[in-house]
Amino acid sequence: MRLQHLKTHQQTHLPADQRPQCDYSTDKVHKCDHDQCDYSTEYKQNLKTHQQSAR
Ligand SMILES: [Zn+2]
Repeated sequence: MRLQHLKTHQQTHLPADQRPQCDYSTDKVHKCDHDQCDYSTEYKQNLKTHQQSAR
């Protein structure tokens, strides 16, 4: 396994706020606006479901 590949793979295990952001197009990601919540999803429906279940 190449070192750069391993590095990239290990970054996928980091918490969302410590991952390099360049891999993500943030306008495609829907983020939860709850306080203390870092939930985010590519799918708007998933965010709706999350917010409804968190009440
Ligand atoms: Zn939330």
